[in-house]
Amino acid sequence: MRMAQSYKMYVDGKWVGAESGATMDVVNPANGKVFATAPKGDEKDVDAAVDAAREAFDKGIWSSKTPAERSTVLWRFADMIEQNAASLAGLESMNQGKSIRYARDSDLPLVIDNVRFFAAAARMLNGKAAAEYSGLGTSFIRREPLGVVGAIVPWNYPLLIAAWKIGPALAAGNSLVLKPASYTPLTALELAKLAKKAGIPDGVFNVITGPGEAVGAALASHMGVDMIAFTGDTETGKKIMEYGTRNVKRVHLELGGKAPMVVLPDADVFTAADGAVTGGFWNTGQDCTAVTRVLVPKESHDKLVKAMIELARKNFRLGDPLKETTDLGPLVSFKHRERVEGYVKIGSQEGAECVIGGRRPSGKEFSSGAFFEPTILTKAKQRFRVCKEEIFGPVMTVQTYNGIDDAISQANDVRYGLSSSVWGKDINACMKIAAKLKFGTVWINDHGILTSEMPHGGYKQSGFGKDLSLYSFDEYTNVKHVYVDQLGPGEKPWHGAVHKMK
Ligand code: NAD
Repeated sequence: MRMAQSYKMYVDGKWVGAESGATMDVVNPANGKVFATAPKGDEKDVDAAVDAAREAFDKGIWSSKTPAERSTVLWRFADMIEQNAASLAGLESMNQGKSIRYARDSDLPLVIDNVRFFAAAARMLNGKAAAEYSGLGTSFIRREPLGVVGAIVPWNYPLLIAAWKIGPALAAGNSLVLKPASYTPLTALELAKLAKKAGIPDGVFNVITGPGEAVGAALASHMGVDMIAFTGDTETGKKIMEYGTRNVKRVHLELGGKAPMVVLPDADVFTAADGAVTGGFWNTGQDCTAVTRVLVPKESHDKLVKAMIELARKNFRLGDPLKETTDLGPLVSFKHRERVEGYVKIGSQEGAECVIGGRRPSGKEFSSGAFFEPTILTKAKQRFRVCKEEIFGPVMTVQTYNGIDDAISQANDVRYGLSSSVWGKDINACMKIAAKLKFGTVWINDHGILTSEMPHGGYKQSGFGKDLSLYSFDEYTNVKHVYVDQLGPGEKPWHGAVHKMK
């Protein structure tokens, strides 16, 4: 029997266990086996990491480098990720359960592109042009790092979402303490090895592992942390906001989603069906932007559902995530599968009809993993819990609508507002609907494309602030106004409004 590999945390450039000595098991959800352990950190470990990050920041070993110097190091970091992409993808797949093809051909290229984007953007921090706005002196803007950033990330994209935080935080000159999710701590620790080799100075980038309620809460409420960048569940996000009040830290929240896909009467049904199942089932549906609710006019309903079922059967082969032929791996954990199953049960009690899936696959190869079949629930009504709450698995509902206003109203009738899509041939009609959808992203005739150049973030209870793009620098920097008097010695004309002039 192979021994479980024992990982350490990365604090101040050193590999350390939790101060308490505690560890936590890391499980492969495809077979239920423990294949690694990671330190189970607590408040003391958070203190050590924050102290290291603070010291690095205060000494200016990273923040006072020129943008070009930071950029060079981040480029090297991206190159090293690229050189190690195959092993990172393999580890991500084994730990998270996503298919190796998805990890290698989607997540890793995006991680590398994202770090390169921010390496370049480090040299492009922008502000308003300097000018004599007062007529008496010159004003200009400095964009400065905040200090110590704590980043707390979820398990669905352990590397990718970490990269969304690491890139802008470090490009802007901050120090960072990263906390990966308890289920998936390993690739973040591997990233730390590459960060060290790339030349990111000790203390500037730290990774601590452990339970959210201990490590995450301690980081989010820490007086030495200037900003928390959090991606995760909306309910956890609310706690993070509360923790942040202790020292009025900046909070950036990327939270849950319940994306609608509005299919217009003139949409090509096959294209829409393909978009629905691909956009809904990728990453085994564990994606905050995934298609979760397909809204379709009555006249297209049967044809669309038939095509969706055929495509779901044909295109999504469940299996060992490390096999090239696998499209869908297991859910991240057995506990999470119970949650997803629970929602399918709720849906049927509410009156939805399960037309495909809704159960664990049979077969020996699935017996010890957290597998669940791609599931489509029809006859769903927007008032159902399965249409309002985040299921976060390969489960989508199909709902009919009566006219465009009803489609928009159903689409918007959720507490979330992360992403959505509209499908139809008349692009003007799609654009008018896009303007009325209350979501941070609206795709037209596609669903799920993100690029480093475009912002990603929510409306409503999907949070605030932006990942990706130059907009994310608004989260990770302070904007400082510096004013230089141009009049020289003597009384200033505006003093007359305050006191008697000589
Ligand atoms: P989660 O909220 O349970 O956990 C996210 C992170 O927070 C983990 O690292 C966890 O350990 C930590 N955490 C848990 N409790 C904490 C606490 N009390 N204090 C501080 N930290 C705590 O979410 P999850 O189950 O890991 O991820 C799934 C959720 O993430 C879904 O709701 C999904 O929609 C959301 N998500 C959002 C985006 C986005 O861009 N908006 C992207 C991916 C995932």
